[in-house]
Amino acid sequence: MDEEKIGDSNLGEQMRRRKRINRMKTGMLVLLSLWVVVSVFFMVFFGFRLNRLTQQIKTLQENQEILEEYLQSENDVINQLSESLMEYQEEPDTEDAGESGDTDGTAREEEVQTSQESAQPEVEDDVHRVYLTFDDGPSEYTEEILDILDQYQVKATFFVIGKEDEHSVEMYKEIVNRGHTLAMHSFSHKYNEIYASLDAFQEDFHKLQSYLEGITGVKPVFYRFPGGSSNQVSNTDMGVFINFLNEEGITYFDWNVSSGDATQSYSSQSVIDNVMSDVDKFHTSVVLMHDTSQKHATIEALPALIEQLQAEDDVILPIDETTVLVQHISADSVTQ
Ligand code: ZN
Repeated sequence: MDEEKIGDSNLGEQMRRRKRINRMKTGMLVLLSLWVVVSVFFMVFFGFRLNRLTQQIKTLQENQEILEEYLQSENDVINQLSESLMEYQEEPDTEDAGESGDTDGTAREEEVQTSQESAQPEVEDDVHRVYLTFDDGPSEYTEEILDILDQYQVKATFFVIGKEDEHSVEMYKEIVNRGHTLAMHSFSHKYNEIYASLDAFQEDFHKLQSYLEGITGVKPVFYRFPGGSSNQVSNTDMGVFINFLNEEGITYFDWNVSSGDATQSYSSQSVIDNVMSDVDKFHTSVVLMHDTSQKHATIEALPALIEQLQAEDDVILPIDETTVLVQHISADSVTQ
């Protein structure tokens, strides 16, 4: 009887131990799988975050230059307006009517318009010349731009940067072969590098010029400073670089009409509206646009834009040595 009890309690003890071990095993398994699930979750989560952050950094870097150019174009509009206002105020005899009848706002506006046009005395005829310029290419859309320009038999200007892939090399050739102006916009397009010193600027300049000449057989003679000649990014006085370009016999162009495609949220329609509302103000309009992978809306705007310009009898031309200079900082203002 007692032995049976002892045997029973041993058996009971063993079963309880087994159960305990089983519970521990299950607990450990549950913990292990939880740990795996949580790790996988965090790995996926942080993987996504990292990917998104990398993309954001890339976009930010790309937008830095674009923002500068955009701010610059906004500055230009303000500068042009204040210049016109100053000229307007400097002409006292034309103003009596406007002063006495202040309700006549349109007369005032017309005066502003006229003084803006008279700011370009070099042009004697009434033809409006429009120079479409594309910065930062070549891109995967360059060929599409070229095809549209061909379709309308229009020539433009491409301020290109240095790219060494096969497609870009092909595009440099195509730009030249199809009769457009191949112009320079720095090899690296890295503000902090090219504007670091005259030496750095010269090196970048010669690298791009000889690179393009080697590919196309044509030595480019036109330049556009990244950010424009009046950019606020360069720590070196821009006059140093302007002086160098003058010595090299290089003509640089800024712009007086911005398509607004430097902003992130722009549309084909806004490109058309921006350009059409500004080209009327000048006899010579140099239009800033971009040829990059983020700017397809610009290309979509191109056919309608060209049609509207042609409907207004504006002449669309590539930049050449006869083009009236459009410079934020005049090359003449820099003397060594
Ligand atoms: Zn640029």
